[in-house]
Amino acid sequence: MPELPEVETIKRQLEKKLPGKEIEKVQIIDCPNADKRIRALSGIKILKVRRRAKTLIVDLNNDKSLLIHLKLTGQLIFRKNAGKERFTRVLFYLSSGGLLFNDMRKFGFIKLVPTENVEKEIHEKYGPEPFDKDFTLKIFEEILVRKKKSKIKPLLMDQKVISGLGNIYAQEACFIAGIKPGRTAGSLDKKEQTRLYSAIKKVLLSAIKFHGTSFDSIYVDAYGQPGGFGQRLYVYQQEKCKRCGQTLKSLRLGGRGTWYCGRCQN
Ligand SMILES: [Zn+2]
Repeated sequence: MPELPEVETIKRQLEKKLPGKEIEKVQIIDCPNADKRIRALSGIKILKVRRRAKTLIVDLNNDKSLLIHLKLTGQLIFRKNAGKERFTRVLFYLSSGGLLFNDMRKFGFIKLVPTENVEKEIHEKYGPEPFDKDFTLKIFEEILVRKKKSKIKPLLMDQKVISGLGNIYAQEACFIAGIKPGRTAGSLDKKEQTRLYSAIKKVLLSAIKFHGTSFDSIYVDAYGQPGGFGQRLYVYQQEKCKRCGQTLKSLRLGGRGTWYCGRCQN
């Protein structure tokens, strides 16, 4: 599932392409979770592309906004020449080019909401953004105290606590911080809390720089290109520790595959 770096990559690319373009026609091909009213957006202009957590927000000039979530297999691709591809579920024909919402598994959604309700629709559901100035070390420490019985990795993945981290980056952050992913939040000392806080920002920034992580053909950026962070992962789906060479341990945490180094993580 795309996490913050992948969705942020798509947002930054679409922000360069979409604003100012007019929607000429919207074709819903096979998308159970697409608001049918998007068919009536002909003649409407795109103002801005934003992101909150893993949701993309496209503001339109009719005081409405599209909320787009890619869920497991969604892709949002800008093409110079709009045309249906194998898993295209919704096709936005624009004044120049087209925006394709491709989604093999069809869990993704497109909602149409009044722009003034975006806050209510999304912002209230999610915890702080890792790069918001409100997400201070003090706030992070308070979260760890409040959730002291939770295991670290699933805690980092809880969108109500912190938004944007999923299975990949939560465990990469644990590795960078040198903390075992199955420890409880309450067991971290001050130094570990600080290291984990910095590690979250570090791994996300680095992954954004390399346009996210692709393992297969599922995640691609807004130009249809795979992300380059996969070869820079330390632990996720890896066999040996890139720092000490020891074989990584794996376990399931919160139902998801988790890898860590028994030597480099305490
Ligand atoms: Zn190691």
